[in-house]
Amino acid sequence: MKNKSVQHNYKISKRDFIKQSLALSAGLICFPKNLALPISLSESESIYKKLAMYQEETARGIMCQICPNECVLKEGELSKCNNRKVHNSKLYTLAYGNPCSVAVDPVEKKPLYHFLPGSRAFSIATAGCNLVCLNCQNWAISQTSPDKTRNYDMPPEKVVADCTGNKCKSIAYTYTEPVTFYEYVLETATLARKAGIKNIMKSNGYINTDPLKKLCSVIDAANIDLKAFTESTYLKLTGGKLQPVLDSLKVYRDMGVWLEITNLIVPTWTDKPDEIAALCKWLGENGFKNTPIHFDRFYPLYKLEQLPPTPVEVLENAVKIARGEGLLYVYTGNVPGNEISDTICPSCHQVVVARQGYRITKYNITDGKCNNCDHKIDGVWN
Ligand code: SF4
Repeated sequence: MKNKSVQHNYKISKRDFIKQSLALSAGLICFPKNLALPISLSESESIYKKLAMYQEETARGIMCQICPNECVLKEGELSKCNNRKVHNSKLYTLAYGNPCSVAVDPVEKKPLYHFLPGSRAFSIATAGCNLVCLNCQNWAISQTSPDKTRNYDMPPEKVVADCTGNKCKSIAYTYTEPVTFYEYVLETATLARKAGIKNIMKSNGYINTDPLKKLCSVIDAANIDLKAFTESTYLKLTGGKLQPVLDSLKVYRDMGVWLEITNLIVPTWTDKPDEIAALCKWLGENGFKNTPIHFDRFYPLYKLEQLPPTPVEVLENAVKIARGEGLLYVYTGNVPGNEISDTICPSCHQVVVARQGYRITKYNITDGKCNNCDHKIDGVWN
């Protein structure tokens, strides 16, 4: 929910409008400077501008090997993620240099609480996603194709220039699923790194290992959604599999990318204490005790509008479970005024970073250490 896109091209609810307006008026979310008007893809010269990476010819068609869906496509067919198409026997990405959503966000909105706190992230998304989550908050742009949205003309160099022009320390690939605009992310992130700008993935982690390793060489931080903890729930709720996401978490961590995890707790789907405990236990046993986890509150949306919002007690109980499993940095999100959002020193248990919404209200860390007891606080603080 925190990472909901600020867009110009679809209807938002009254509640979200008020929330976004307040955030905008508080200067927390901004429309970037110097942004030209978006155009539709058919108005630009060609939709087949960029060959897709990780494509392989097979007897049944061209296989995309970016994500575990491994689409095999014949001439003219569109991928499951809605942004790859076979043209003249080659697979092209339709999502290159044409984001449909562009905004300047606080990095806390991704959410990343332990990465350059208080900084701004230049945030972009193209249309398309490789999952079909029933609760998607950005479904209007994630479940469609770049030739059906109005897009900004933003090649990688322009993204980097606009990031600098908007005084952002990082570029966030976000809102929809950056795995599916892989080539755009990779080229932009490579240029950004040369310019001293950090790169952030807000992703579902649904990506094959080889492309992920290549991507990690230019990514500095990631917030990955771990949406459920059984294969059957994953399949029914998202259309994907759990294991590839668990594998991705390990790759991000092992490649030295700063990692935080989000678990959206959806009533009747992912709110069972046993399942939350199993998820936390797995994280603890697999070397993720120092990885911040955000338990986010669900609000009725998209195909799950009939469900109530997650009760706050369920989120608080998840926090207790996670702490009981030894996870060191546990937060709740989307509970305005009632969030568990302060960072506590694992050694002296003092608050080292206090937050109110996206704002930092107290900061007691110097050189990555607690000011009170000198204990190292995991994260990228400067
Ligand atoms: S990235 Fe898109 S085209 Fe490639 S395998 Fe995944 S869903 Fe299919």
